[in-house]
Amino acid sequence: MTKKAIVLLSGGLDSTTVLAIAHHEGFELHTLSFDYGQRHQREVDAAKSVARYYKVERQQKVKIDLRAFGRSALTADIAVPHNRSISQMSHDIPITYVPARNTIFLSFALAYAEVMGANDIFIGINAIDYSGYPDCRPAYLEAYEHMANLATKAAIQDEQVFRFRAPLLNMNKAEIIRKGTELGVPYELTWSCYEGGEMACGTCDSCTLRLNGFAEAGREDPIRYVSLVNQPEPVDGLPVADGQKATFSIAVVVSTVDVPCF
Ligand SMILES: [Zn+2]
Repeated sequence: MTKKAIVLLSGGLDSTTVLAIAHHEGFELHTLSFDYGQRHQREVDAAKSVARYYKVERQQKVKIDLRAFGRSALTADIAVPHNRSISQMSHDIPITYVPARNTIFLSFALAYAEVMGANDIFIGINAIDYSGYPDCRPAYLEAYEHMANLATKAAIQDEQVFRFRAPLLNMNKAEIIRKGTELGVPYELTWSCYEGGEMACGTCDSCTLRLNGFAEAGREDPIRYVSLVNQPEPVDGLPVADGQKATFSIAVVVSTVDVPCF
């Protein structure tokens, strides 16, 4: 019997790469996505397209309302920061941090895994060069796994062992993109931007890190960015045309710092 995996899928670059890894490992895939009151539906739509691409066995979407608590630029009427350098981003826990989001998401994933009889739960967090997000650290994941194996009927009565898999935990964005490219990840279907809209903004923290990752990996980002449209003159190695694809030579700060979140 094929072993089952629950994969938390936001529709972003990281979680899509994780889905590709689980797919490569031969799991029967069950994805879990959240409409949690985030700023836009683009990532929920992206998750749907990615799940369809991988022909997952079951695609589960859960609606919860984290706007009831707010306190994040993703779940309240607070502006998302733009044009920050990567060193500025890694200074403090950013306003885009959503209180306890990974704990909430993993709890849903654990319940889903218990029902489905899945031992493996995949999440696309990473912790490299970044200490801001408390719920993206190895110690957090270990503690969560320990809790899960104490807290469920399946673990106690049926001796099911839950494993929380975070294959990107020690990778930076460029390494993630290289790995994903190797696995044929359809990055054109993914959405990383904190803003909605037709094209990614290119200047929010998430876009900056993504662009930086592609630049470092020496790969072309197949999605389109507003900030790269209507650039004045063609210059060798720089993106020029209206609505064209981003290239790896865009002028963003190069660093290995990464946003470690799902
Ligand atoms: Zn953006």
